[in-house]
Amino acid sequence: MNHFSYSGGVLHAEAVDLDALAEKVGTPFYCYSTATLERHYRVFADSFPKGTLVAFSVKANGNIAVLKTLGRLGAGADVVSGGELKKALHAGIPGERIVFSGVGKSRAEMKLALDARIYQFNVESEPELEALSEVASATGATAPITIRVNPDVDAGTHAKITTGTAETKFGVPWSRARSAYALAAKLKGIQIVGIDVHIGSQIVDLQPFETAFGKVVELAARLRADGHTIARLDLGGGLGVPYIQNNEPPPDPSAYGKMATRVTQALGCQLILEPGRLIAANAGILVTRVLYIKQGERKTFAIVDAGMNDLIRPALYDSHHEIVRINEPSPDAARQRYDVVGPVCETSDIFAADRELPQLKSGDLVAILTAGAYGAVMSSAYNARPPAPEVLVKGELWSVVRPRTDDDALLGSERIPDWLAG
Ligand SMILES: *Cc1c(COP(=O)(O)O)cnc(C)c1O
Repeated sequence: MNHFSYSGGVLHAEAVDLDALAEKVGTPFYCYSTATLERHYRVFADSFPKGTLVAFSVKANGNIAVLKTLGRLGAGADVVSGGELKKALHAGIPGERIVFSGVGKSRAEMKLALDARIYQFNVESEPELEALSEVASATGATAPITIRVNPDVDAGTHAKITTGTAETKFGVPWSRARSAYALAAKLKGIQIVGIDVHIGSQIVDLQPFETAFGKVVELAARLRADGHTIARLDLGGGLGVPYIQNNEPPPDPSAYGKMATRVTQALGCQLILEPGRLIAANAGILVTRVLYIKQGERKTFAIVDAGMNDLIRPALYDSHHEIVRINEPSPDAARQRYDVVGPVCETSDIFAADRELPQLKSGDLVAILTAGAYGAVMSSAYNARPPAPEVLVKGELWSVVRPRTDDDALLGSERIPDWLAG
């Protein structure tokens, strides 16, 4: 369910006409719907028992206005860097609702997180545990930790977003979980509070989750028997969203919530969830204008003004994104196959291959759907292209929440060494 729909022949974001918005903001731009963000958060949070911490995964969409929208509903934040921690705090999400994940936390980032009194560190290796112990005990602080364990469960998702198999860099290997906890219990400045697991992203089947959670529950019992305090289970994120409109929809959050609750209930632990994509993906679109229709030898190319520097998912993950016209095509509009491509000088700068769409012409606006997660956050200035700005809509209101960078930012951010000056 999202709040992008046609009204009077024009695609709207809530009550905002996207054709008119494109005139004002210029293309390309990201557009997020407050109502969709709020709905997705509420549906997800309501699927879990009271007292569950839903920590939005900031890496999916780190725009401060988006974080503030969710934070006001009670969301926490799952951060994977000091920068994300600063953004979450700046958005008003209190440290007590922030968890810190990631395999490569630096000592400076650990210090920042200790100073912010975050809820927990999800520690991913024994050396990280030792570093955290040193940083915490140097200032007399105590770091609440879980250890992220790698359950070696294949989530059946794309290789580049699989994290829960033994070949990936994530988590402590299952066979060393107990010894890692034994180490943690001996270290100064470390307080064990629970277990963490996250097996991947865009997972459309409940079974791998259930298998992983089941293993975690068994481990929790064993760790309790070893004398550790296991009061929290952080079950990570990863629930998939529909990218392909006519495909079978992924499991809905309430089925996921029921399953997670059923499997873990007996332990009496607080649950922590880290959804990212599920909250943000379908709350955002990328609006872009067709520059040229180019006739190739065998294909027709619709060249749009957004590029892989704005949205890299199709190039990186072969992901499918629906593409629709902003001006509603009539039901009997002629259709044609296009490769929808960007201006970046890379063959992989392609949003859709051989996609049948209502006929397009130069100047038409199109929306690339399901772009609110892992979209703007992964944008770059490759080809010296300013990344697309971001707009947040709420009812009839809209606001540019990240402006397009100008030439001052483009040229002024680099420096000429003395020997080239003049
Ligand atoms: C990426 C990530 C998430 C969010 O994953 P989604 O698929 O966007 O829900 C949650 N937790 C951790 C540790 C992650 O790395």
